[in-house]
Amino acid sequence: MVFYTEYSLEGSNTFNIKAKANVFYEVSLREDLDSFVRKRKFMDMPRLVLGNGSNVLFVKKRFKGVVLKNEMKGIDFVSETDNEVVLKVASGEDFDEFVDFCLKKRLHGAENLSGIPGSVGGAVVQNIGAYGQELKNLVQSVEYYDFDDLEVHTIDNAGCNFGYRDSVFKHELMDKTFIMSVTFKMSKKYTPIIGYGALQERLTGYSVLTPMLVRKAILSLRFEKIPDYRQYGNAGSFFKNPDITPEEAQKMAKQHPEVKMFEQEDGMFKIPAGQLIDLCGFKRTPTPTVGVAYTNALILMNLGGAKGREILDYAKKIKKAVKQRYGVKLEPEVVII
Ligand SMILES: Cc1cc2nc3c(=O)[nH]c(=O)nc-3n(C[C@H](O)[C@H](O)[C@H](O)COP(=O)(O)OP(=O)(O)OC[C@H]3O[C@@H](n4cnc5c(N)ncnc54)[C@H](O)[C@@H]3O)c2cc1C
Repeated sequence: MVFYTEYSLEGSNTFNIKAKANVFYEVSLREDLDSFVRKRKFMDMPRLVLGNGSNVLFVKKRFKGVVLKNEMKGIDFVSETDNEVVLKVASGEDFDEFVDFCLKKRLHGAENLSGIPGSVGGAVVQNIGAYGQELKNLVQSVEYYDFDDLEVHTIDNAGCNFGYRDSVFKHELMDKTFIMSVTFKMSKKYTPIIGYGALQERLTGYSVLTPMLVRKAILSLRFEKIPDYRQYGNAGSFFKNPDITPEEAQKMAKQHPEVKMFEQEDGMFKIPAGQLIDLCGFKRTPTPTVGVAYTNALILMNLGGAKGREILDYAKKIKKAVKQRYGVKLEPEVVII
């Protein structure tokens, strides 16, 4: 059981915010959680489970509670059929390293999620997605520690209630659980998913598509479009891409023909939020410490020394401008703490 007090979180969040935690507790094993819950003074304090901090914004100078930093590691082979291999992955594993591990073992399905920072546990909470793939398509079950009954439970894919950047861990199970491991069903057969425009373009001219080639193409696209958070702190997309009804889409097309929309399978229309932010002029109006990325206005950046509150205020300004001009409500993808 390792814990620190007055711990600086600057290196534990990709926005590089200089917040502090009263207590910072590293969790490597189930026994660490058992020791934690036995400490009454810790259990009485606010609690935050932290993976790699790539989807959080600390807006207060101090988290007045215990940060449980996930350090659970290990990948175990569970079973194999002619078509699939099942792997149980500890939630503190780095997600992109897991993708790389799978590719080296010729196991497929995760390659389009290449380059997404964060832990395996954080990936489940958020149901991460990119380039036409979502994590929910690979998850068989999730094992979590429940801080209410102090037991370990397993839920299957359906029980996770996955949605667009959403899962049961953001609702009924929010703040109550520590995801310990995730069981993935990986395919032995490779089926390329290259419907996404920019990816298709990048891969033109290749007669044979290998998973490693697709991973490399995605990593290069991400490198071009997403600023390095070590230089300009960010958490990827700050807002979710909003969905509007067909009636709203019709109205939008009439009033704002410049706005691109994409019809979804369920009949709703998705609008790239970055486009709306760009059209509202935010690429031209950074503050000395906060701005949006030139390559993608959906990415809010710490330009140097920004306080969490300054980033949140800028996000609110964006939200207000988009609502006023386009009548669309933006919801944050990032968890505000
Ligand atoms: C440069 C950059 C690019 C990105 N690109 C993408 C992208 O393409 N697609 C995408 O979907 N996301 C993207 N993201 C967002 C982010 O990488 C993901 O949301 C990631 O899965 C977060 O994982 P994490 O371990 O960092 O979670 P954290 O930020 O540490 O935590 C996020 C939330 O999950 C909870 N949580 C984390 N671990 C656990 C656990 N073990 N048990 C219970 N709760 C837990 C936390 O309490 C918090 O509420 C990007 C971020 C960055 C910085």
